[in-house]
Amino acid sequence: MSIKYTYTRIRGFMIVTGSELLKDCRRGGYAVPAFNVDNLESVLGVLGAIEKLSLPAIIQTIPRTLKYGGIGSYSALVRANYKGGADISIHLDHGGDLDVCKKCIDEGYTSVMIDGSALPFDKNVEITRQAVELAHRHGVSVEAELGAIGGKEETESQIKYTEVNEAVEFVKLTGADSLAIGVGTAHGVYKGEPHIAISRIKEIADAVDIPLVLHGASGLSDSVIKECIKAGISKINFATHLRQAFTQGLREGLASADATFDPKTYLPYAIKAVQEAAEGIIKLCRAQA
Ligand SMILES: [Zn+2]
Repeated sequence: MSIKYTYTRIRGFMIVTGSELLKDCRRGGYAVPAFNVDNLESVLGVLGAIEKLSLPAIIQTIPRTLKYGGIGSYSALVRANYKGGADISIHLDHGGDLDVCKKCIDEGYTSVMIDGSALPFDKNVEITRQAVELAHRHGVSVEAELGAIGGKEETESQIKYTEVNEAVEFVKLTGADSLAIGVGTAHGVYKGEPHIAISRIKEIADAVDIPLVLHGASGLSDSVIKECIKAGISKINFATHLRQAFTQGLREGLASADATFDPKTYLPYAIKAVQEAAEGIIKLCRAQA
C-alpha cells in the first residue's frame, strides 16, 4: 500500500513526524501542544493560531472522531487549509489497534499513538512494538502509553502512576518515539483539584531519552502546566479546552445579529474562539516556569 502523502512543504514549512516536532523540546525548555479537532472549524481555528504565532503544534483526532467524520476527512482538511507559519504534525490520538494506525498512516497521518495502557505490561509492549514496526516502515513516528490517565473509563482512584523502572524497560523493548505517562491527570473536566506528580515526571524524564507526553491538560492551571514542562514534558494534549471554546463561540455566533440560516454567518465565531484558545495554549507551552 502506497502512502498518498508523507511530507508536504508549504512556504518552507512542512507536515512532519511527531518526533521531528518534539526533538528540541527538552533542550529548549518548551512543549508542543497537541489539539484535538472535531470538524473543519476547529481545524481552521488551530491552523490560524499556528500561522499567526509562527509556532508549531500537533493536530490530532481520536478514533471516535474518525468514526464521526470519516477516517480520511481530517488529514484532508488539514492539508487543504495548512498555510505554513510553522511545522505541524497530523497525529492519531489513542489508537486502539494496529488497524486504525494503518488506516491513518494510509491517509497521510505523520504520527500515531498506540494505546495499550489498559493491557498487561507484556501485551502493551507487544502491540506497541508491532505499531512501531508498521509506522517506522512508512516514516511515521509512534507515541505509546504506560500507566493510566484518568477520565471517562477510570475513576480518580484508578489513575495509575507510571513506574520509572517500567518506563525505562518499556522504551527499551518497544522503540517507541514518545511516551504518554500517568502522573495524575485525567481526560475531560476535572471534578476536584487535580494532583499532578511533578516529581514523577522529572524522575521519568531523567531516566528515559524520548519525549514525554501529558494527556488531560485541559483544566490544569497555567502554573502547573509550566511546572510539567520544566520537569520534562514535551507534548501536551488539549481536547476538552478546545471543545469548550468551540461550543461557546458557536453559541455566541448563533445569538449574534449577523446570524442567518447560512452556517457561514455564525460558524466563524466558533473558528475565532478556537483560534484564540489555541493561541493562548501555544504561548503557554513556550512560557518558562
Ligand atoms: Zn489522552
